[in-house]
Amino acid sequence: MNEQVKIFVTRRIPLAGITMLKEKGYGVVMSEKDGVLTKEELKSALLVEPYDAVLCLLTDTIDAEVFAAAPHARVFANYAVGYNNIDLKAAKEKNIIITNTPGVLTETVAEYTLAMIMALTKRIVESDSYVRAGKFKGWEPESFLGVDLRGKTLGILGAGRIGSQVAERAYRGLGMDIIYYDVKANSALEAATNAIFHDAPEGVLKAADVVSVHVPLLDSTKHLINKERLAIMKPSAYLVNTSRGLVVDEAALVTALQEGTIKGAAIDVFENEPALAPGLATLPNVIVTPHIASATEGTRSKMSEIAAANIIAVLEGQTPPNLVTV
Ligand code: NAD
Repeated sequence: MNEQVKIFVTRRIPLAGITMLKEKGYGVVMSEKDGVLTKEELKSALLVEPYDAVLCLLTDTIDAEVFAAAPHARVFANYAVGYNNIDLKAAKEKNIIITNTPGVLTETVAEYTLAMIMALTKRIVESDSYVRAGKFKGWEPESFLGVDLRGKTLGILGAGRIGSQVAERAYRGLGMDIIYYDVKANSALEAATNAIFHDAPEGVLKAADVVSVHVPLLDSTKHLINKERLAIMKPSAYLVNTSRGLVVDEAALVTALQEGTIKGAAIDVFENEPALAPGLATLPNVIVTPHIASATEGTRSKMSEIAAANIIAVLEGQTPPNLVTV
């Protein structure tokens, strides 16, 4: 009975949410392209039908031009917790509701970040390549020496949902000391982990043995990690970034790794995805993964359900559970 309601999905995602939308009787059209739609392709696709809602991905640039191509759409539901791909000001001007999928991926991304910290400091990826290359000729007393984490200091930049969960796991599971920088103190985190708050990133960068970045991408966090801030980290320190690529000046990071300013880095997100800064992937002291911190079957499926629930709420005249406000 809702067949007149049309929803466009910009790329194939796990079907759980799509099924929810279809069960409501909505007409759901999923992009058939095996990849990200260009802006022009997205606009053309949206002009085909008078869509009431759009389910979009973090790889889609959603701005005034895209909103103009979907004049009937009341909601753009982003399949991600981050929403730096969406022009929120343009959405507000057009009274378009924006939603995201927070919470459900917090633990998944926190676990992944811990995996990166462990893999980096224990040199797992580097030594795996060594064995596969046939270079392993027998046990060596001083081969692939890593570092112990117990008693070392983990510095969290952005102690929100994910940053706090990373800190709790590192504190409880690994016995690390926690320090953090955020725009506001997090008393729950301090109570749970004895974390020490810094009101500027410098104090954390100076003292931490491992720095893990969990801020959203905003004007205020673009290149939060730059040449100057890399220079104040310990030469023995590691940087882990599972937030957004633009938070780290990637060219400056490559130079810092080449020059031994810091010891290593594990990076899941890049400034110009899918491109990597020249030199990054050839460094042995780096782990690079293709933006997969939230990629578990269960979480990606739940994200699909949450995006669908947000769309359904808007189309039924309710406030969506995950409304993004400017
Ligand atoms: P959140 O909003 O719960 O936490 C972000 C924290 O950053 C907040 O505590 C906030 O106060 C703080 N913050 C904001 N601006 C700051 C600034 N200028 N300086 C210092 N702190 C600042 O968000 P979350 O759910 O923890 O997610 C964090 C980010 O992780 C998302 O925005 C997203 O970009 C990224 N993410 C990446 C992946 C991935 O696949 N790699 C998956 C999920 C989320």
